Amino acid sequence: MHSDENAYCRVCGYEPADAPWGADGTEPSWEICPCCGVEFGYEDASAAGVRKYRERWVAAGAPWSDPTTPLDDLELNERLARISPRYLG
Ligand SMILES: [Zn+2]
Repeated sequence: MHSDENAYCRVCGYEPADAPWGADGTEPSWEICPCCGVEFGYEDASAAGVRKYRERWVAAGAPWSDPTTPLDDLELNERLARISPRYLG
């Protein structure tokens, strides 16, 4: 298990200011990911849900979701590389 995997969005690998699921990965913040637009604690509550959401988002061209949040200047594959294998595939 990657030591800081809880810091990243399970769908896209973006690193928000607050951990999407809290420091221990069990308490979702219910915030919207500015990158992929997932709601932490909702569509990403299961590995199957994460994969389904990511599939749709990538198929749509992986658009940046929140125009008021500055881009993190990472490529899609750089973000995806931070996601735990359990949420990929
Ligand atoms: Zn995301």
